[in-house]
Amino acid sequence: MREIQMVDLKSQYKKIKNEIDKAIQEVIDQATFINGPQVTRFQEDLENYLGVKHVIPCANGTDALQIAMMALGLKPGDEVITPSFTYIATTEVIALLGLTPVFVDVNPKTFCIDVEQIEKSITPKTKAIVPVHLYGQSADMDKIMEIATKYSLYVIEDNAQAIGCDYTHQDGSISKTGTIGTIGCTSFFPSKNLGCYGDGGAICTNDDDLAIKLKQIANHGQTIRYHHEMVGCNSRLDSIQAAILSIKLKKLDEYCDARRKVADFYDKNLGKIKGVTIPYRNTNSSHVFHQYTLQIEGVNRNDLVNFLATNGIPSMIYYPIPAHRQKMFDSFNSSSNNLTITDWLTNRVISLPIHTEMEEEQAEYICKQFKIFFER
Ligand SMILES: *Cc1c(COP(=O)(O)O)cnc(C)c1O
Repeated sequence: MREIQMVDLKSQYKKIKNEIDKAIQEVIDQATFINGPQVTRFQEDLENYLGVKHVIPCANGTDALQIAMMALGLKPGDEVITPSFTYIATTEVIALLGLTPVFVDVNPKTFCIDVEQIEKSITPKTKAIVPVHLYGQSADMDKIMEIATKYSLYVIEDNAQAIGCDYTHQDGSISKTGTIGTIGCTSFFPSKNLGCYGDGGAICTNDDDLAIKLKQIANHGQTIRYHHEMVGCNSRLDSIQAAILSIKLKKLDEYCDARRKVADFYDKNLGKIKGVTIPYRNTNSSHVFHQYTLQIEGVNRNDLVNFLATNGIPSMIYYPIPAHRQKMFDSFNSSSNNLTITDWLTNRVISLPIHTEMEEEQAEYICKQFKIFFER
C-alpha cells in the first residue's frame, strides 16, 4: 500500500505530467512569465466554468479577499460579519484593512455561518457579510443574499475550499459557489481542490464596474500604465501557474467526484460508530469535500490522533483555535457574540485524509484502524 497522506499531489502530478511539463516549458520558451497569454486563457476558462462575467486572477486567496474589501470601498470602523470557525485569512484581512470583524457562530451541521445569527449582529456600521463555504459545502446563500438585500450589505464569498461546488437556489436554478455574492474569492494553494504548483488566487464578480476596480487595485491602482488612480497592490497570478491551472481546471469535476467517492466510503464505514458524526450533506448544495471532517465524542481526540499517526495515518484538526480566541483579535471584544457552537466544534472535529488519488485499499485501512480505536 502506498504511504497515506492528507493530500497526495505527487501521484496526481504523475498522471498529468506530460501535459503539465509541456505547458510549463512553453511559458519558459516564450519567456512570458508575467501576464502571458496563459493568464488570459485561464481567466476565460474559469469564467466559462463558473458561469461568471469576470474573473480577476491574483497572487493568492488572502489577496483576493483583501482586494475585494478594498474595491468595495470599506473604511476603517466598518463592521464585517464573518464566522470565527474558519481559516485565519478570512478574518485577518478584515482587521488588516482596519475594519472590525464581527464574529458569528456556525451551524453545527453544515459548519457554515449560522444565518439566524447574522441578522442579530447587524448594526448601523455593518457593511458586509463574508460567508465561508467551509470544507467544500456551500453556506446558505439564498438566506444570506436575502439579509444582504434587506440591509444593503455586500456579500464576499470565501470560496477557497469549495471551488466546483453547485448551489441550488430555492427556485431550482443552480449557481457555482463564488458567483452568488457581490464578489467571490478563491485560492489555488497547492492542496486546494483546484491547486497550482505555488501560490495563486482569483476574484469573481458579475458587476462590470467592480471588475474594473478589482483589476485596477490588483495592479497598483492603474488601468493605463503609470497612471495610478488609487492606492492598490501588486497581486498577479504567474503565467506558469495559470498554464497549470487551465490543465487542472478541465479535471476539476472529475477531481471533485474522486473526493466524493472517498467521502461516500468513509460515510458508509464510519457512520455507524457510536460517538462519530459523519459530515452532514445539505440538499441545497453539492459537497466537494476539500476536507472530510468528522465530529467525535466520548474519546480523547489527542489519543485518536496519536493512535492514527502510530499506524501511519495522518489526520488534522481544522482549526485548533477559532478566530475569536486568537491573540491577534484580543482588541476586538467579541464577548457579545455567543460562539458556543464554534467552541464546541473546535474540540470535536477531526479531518481524515482525502484527495483525488486515494486508493480503496488505503480508505479501507484507515476505516479499519479508526474502528479499532473506537472499539478498544
Ligand atoms: C486557503 C484559504 C484561504 C487563503 O488562501 P491563500 O491562497 O493561502 O492565501 C482563505 N480562506 C480559506 C477558507 C482558505 O481555506
